[in-house]
Amino acid sequence: MNNGARLANVSGRSTLIWDDGYGDVATLSKGRFGPNPQDLFEEWAAFEEWAGGIEPRHSTLPDERLFGPPTPRPGQIFAIGLNYRSHATEAGYDTSGLPQVFTKFASSLAGPYGEVQVRSNRLDWEIELVVVMAKSARNIKEDDAWSYTAGLMVGQDLSARDVQLAGSAPQWSLGKSFEGFAPVGPYITTTSNCTNRDDLILECQLNGACVQKARTSEMIWSVPELISRLSSVCELRSGDLIFTGTPAGVGNRMVPPRYLKPGDRLVSSISELGSMTTDFVAANFQGS
Ligand code: ZN
Repeated sequence: MNNGARLANVSGRSTLIWDDGYGDVATLSKGRFGPNPQDLFEEWAAFEEWAGGIEPRHSTLPDERLFGPPTPRPGQIFAIGLNYRSHATEAGYDTSGLPQVFTKFASSLAGPYGEVQVRSNRLDWEIELVVVMAKSARNIKEDDAWSYTAGLMVGQDLSARDVQLAGSAPQWSLGKSFEGFAPVGPYITTTSNCTNRDDLILECQLNGACVQKARTSEMIWSVPELISRLSSVCELRSGDLIFTGTPAGVGNRMVPPRYLKPGDRLVSSISELGSMTTDFVAANFQGS
């Protein structure tokens, strides 16, 4: 899409977003595409071609509270641990060998401007670049890997360190899958519109102070290497997500450790991809 459009989920509907306007995909395309945001990835090439021909809308932006996760129901979510040397070092891990892979269960996905209930006294942040897959395939070659992606977005791999590290072996997937623990967005910037896709700048701010800052070029395993590795075992399917790991600066490696508590605000930004704001609130143990 060369008209600057990005793809968001607004009120559960696929929505094209420009800097100063938006338009409903199903309405603009007269039903050819949408409204379910998860369905577009199945016919991504056709969608991108159509969306690139749409005149930008200029009006207002939607209310932030209406934004959901741009991929509300992915079939698979892959997550990579220890993919920045700076974070592996602070966490005390060896980075040789193969990427550390786990999942964040899909029910933990959340929109880019929500509230997260603090259900752990060791709740930690991890800003990450998130890749959205377009074409389904196995055994993808590194050289071709970007052509299998739809786009990129900002993500947070929120982690309850007490649950993650409980027991005799780590429980990464479970400790990272409480309600709201996978905010993503604010929209998908298409791979073709991303000018520095191998060298984006990530920055995470806690209550206005920078806690994490790095470049995606510092990743130990690049996006093409991750896609190649993952697809050598699992079929990657359209609409799947890959959380690509976090750099140094997480709370449990601070001295003393700093965990998220009610009243805290995280702002997670990546150059070219936008910014998410996540507020932390007291847990409602009565259930929701
Ligand atoms: Zn992570």
